[in-house]
Amino acid sequence: MRTLICGGKIVFPDGMITADLLVSDEKIAAMGKALATSFSADRTVDATGKFILPGLIDSHVHMPWKSDSFSSGDDFSSGTRAAIWGGVTTIIDFAIPERGEPLSVAVDKRRKEAIESCYTDFAFHAVINRFTSTLAEEIAAVIKAGIPSFKLYMLYPGLALSDGEIYQIMRWVKQAGGLVGIHAENGAIVDTLTALLVARGKTGPAYHYASRPQLVEAEAINRMLFLNRIVGGRMFFVHVSSQDSIALIAQAKHQGQQVYAETCPHYLLLTAEKCAGSEGYLFLVSPSLKNAADVESLWTGCEDGTVDFVSTDHCPFSRTQKAEHKDDFPKIPNGLPGVETRLPLMVTEGYEKRHLSLERIVQLTSYNAARILGLYPQKGTLQVGSDADLVVLNTEKEHVLSYRTLHMNVDWSPYEGHTVRGFPDLVMRRGEILIDRGVWVADESRGMFIPRVLA
Ligand SMILES: [Zn+2]
Repeated sequence: MRTLICGGKIVFPDGMITADLLVSDEKIAAMGKALATSFSADRTVDATGKFILPGLIDSHVHMPWKSDSFSSGDDFSSGTRAAIWGGVTTIIDFAIPERGEPLSVAVDKRRKEAIESCYTDFAFHAVINRFTSTLAEEIAAVIKAGIPSFKLYMLYPGLALSDGEIYQIMRWVKQAGGLVGIHAENGAIVDTLTALLVARGKTGPAYHYASRPQLVEAEAINRMLFLNRIVGGRMFFVHVSSQDSIALIAQAKHQGQQVYAETCPHYLLLTAEKCAGSEGYLFLVSPSLKNAADVESLWTGCEDGTVDFVSTDHCPFSRTQKAEHKDDFPKIPNGLPGVETRLPLMVTEGYEKRHLSLERIVQLTSYNAARILGLYPQKGTLQVGSDADLVVLNTEKEHVLSYRTLHMNVDWSPYEGHTVRGFPDLVMRRGEILIDRGVWVADESRGMFIPRVLA
C-alpha cells in the first residue's frame, strides 16, 4: 500500500519545508517536490496549507493506574483510542512489579495486556519499587529486552526507595547503559505538612497545595541532581512543576549533566487556585498545581530547552471517584486526563498565544522523547526510513473542549469550555490511517511493542 501526502508543510525539529511525502507500507519512502510525477500511489491525501508533524509520543501515561483503592478510567483500548484522536501514535506506559516479582515478569505481563488492545504503538518504563540482591541482573536483562528506562519514586508506600537505594540503582542502571526517571518529591516533608494540616482540620482540597508546595519538589530534585553528578549517569525528571526546580535543572544542564526534564500541560495551564474552587477536588494531582510564576518559568523552559518534553501523566478519575472523599485531600485520588488534548493545548497556548514555534512543539511532543528515550530514528521524526507515524495538523478549525466530545473514559475535563485549535485532520500510525478528515476510520487496534535502544 502506497500513500502520497501532497503539499503539506513538513515540520522538522529545526525547520520546515513544503513537500510531498510518500508512504510505502509502514515506512516513509520518499520526500520531495512533485512526487506524483515519479511515483504511483494507491491513495493521495491533499495536505495543502496544513502542517505535517511526526506522530506524537506520550512518554508518560497510565493505562490504567491501579492501586488498592482506585483504578484510573482508561485501559489500553480506550486510552490509546483517545491518544490517536489527539495525534499520539506512540505511548510509553509503566510496568510495575507486584511485590516480589522480577522486573522482566512485570514487563511481560504489561506487554501482554497492551498487545491485545493498543491502537498506538507502545513501550514501557520499568518501575523499580523494591531493592533486592538480584536487581543489577534484572536491570541488565530488561535493557536487553528493549526497556532501557527505569522509574523510581521518592515517595508513596509500596513505591518509595531510600536515597541509598536510589544511589545504588543509579550506578547499576548506568553500568548497564540505561536511564533513570525520577518522581522527585520529598515524601517526609509531604507527610509532615499533611499531618499538620489534618491536625488543624484543614483537609479541604485547597490545602493539597500547602501539603506539597514548591520546596517539596525542588529539594528532591536538588538531591537527585547531586547524586547523579557523583554517579555520572543519565536521568530525567517526570512532571516538573515549579520554578526552583527548573532553575536547578537548567544549572545542572549548564554544568554538563545528562539530565532531562518533562513537564505536563496541566502545569503549563493550570494553577493551584483551581483546587480552591467549588469543584477543587477534581484538580488534585501530584505534584500539586503551582502558581503563575511557576507556569511562566515552565513556558520559558519550553522555549529555552530546559524542558525537554511535554508528556501528560494521563491518569483520569471520574467525578464519583474524586468526590468520594472530596473534603479530605489526603484520600482524593491524584491524577488528570490529558492524553488526547496535549497537541491542541500546545498549539493554542504555545504556538498561537506565546509564539512557541511549531518546530519547538515537535521537539517537545515527539522528537526529544524519541532521542532521549531510545525511539529515534524509528519514531519522532519525518525522514526516509522512519515509521510513517504522522499527523496532518489543522490550525484553523476551532474546537470547544468538553468531556462529552473527547474520547477519554472520564466524565469531566480540566479544560471544559476552552476554545482550542490544533486537532489533527489525519492521523497515521505505521502507514495506517486511523483518523481521516476528522473521522475515525480504524477497524482494529494493531499497536506494536517497540523495543528501545538508547543512543
Ligand atoms: Zn505518572
